[in-house]
Amino acid sequence: MTTVPGQSTPQPSLAGGPGQRVPQNDATNLRIDHLTAGYGRVQVVSDFTARVEQGEVVSLVGRNGAGKTTALAAVAGLRYAPAGGTVYIGDKNLSGASPNTMVTSGLGLVPEGRRIFKEMTVLENLRLGAYTHRRQRKLIEDDLDRVHELFPILAEFSKREVGGLSGGQQQMIAIGQALMGRPQFLLLDEPASGVAPVLVDEIYDRLHQLVEGGLGLILVDQSIERALEHSSRFYVMDSGTNVLFGDSSPAAIEDINPIVLGSEGVGAA
Ligand code: ATP
Repeated sequence: MTTVPGQSTPQPSLAGGPGQRVPQNDATNLRIDHLTAGYGRVQVVSDFTARVEQGEVVSLVGRNGAGKTTALAAVAGLRYAPAGGTVYIGDKNLSGASPNTMVTSGLGLVPEGRRIFKEMTVLENLRLGAYTHRRQRKLIEDDLDRVHELFPILAEFSKREVGGLSGGQQQMIAIGQALMGRPQFLLLDEPASGVAPVLVDEIYDRLHQLVEGGLGLILVDQSIERALEHSSRFYVMDSGTNVLFGDSSPAAIEDINPIVLGSEGVGAA
């Protein structure tokens, strides 16, 4: 487990493919250093450091309450208490930036629990994702076409209310909504939660399609096996800090399980 985060990933091709995102600048990576975050006076994240290159998936795993959701939210500019540390996209210092600035700088967040609007239609939810450039109609239509190409069911169900759709379909909407913000980097919190297994596979296939098109992804998944399967590198968070990182080989689970499951859970894993 001696990998230096983000060091050896080759630059991906940004050409072609239905999942292609249009890069907004020459950013090559997202770098988070010594991030702190919490709620009021309670500090939950004490030292979170991570990086992801364009065209790369890294996973973030850890036991319940370790601080993963809080860390991703803080990176995206959602701060519930004073936060410290630095966040860069390429050369751009985004430390302490607002959620709007993060979106316009190329960062998207798909929060845990899919914060989409259940009484609104699929299309209305997708359009909301383009709020930072809502006057650029042609761009929005092109992006909608891309999202529909990625998840055809969202075109088919365009006029339906979101509340009546399955967990997997709602997750696709949440991802689609984030894509409408034109991210270069996406923070994805528990995309498999409440989603039928067959749709989990489909969602991950589509995510990999986006990554091949140049998207950089930080992924939180409760299943360590699935997190390792779908990422090239991993970070383990415990009590608000990174305690382990490395390449996502199947063997890595031997090192991760004792931290995430505790010694009593390892035999049962
Ligand atoms: P899980 O896998 O269960 O989602 P996590 O690693 O994502 O866990 P967080 O959701 O970030 O962890 O929670 C970290 C800690 O922060 C927990 O102790 C949790 O109770 C606390 N916490 C989360 N949200 C809030 C909030 N809105 N107000 C106060 N404390 C919170």
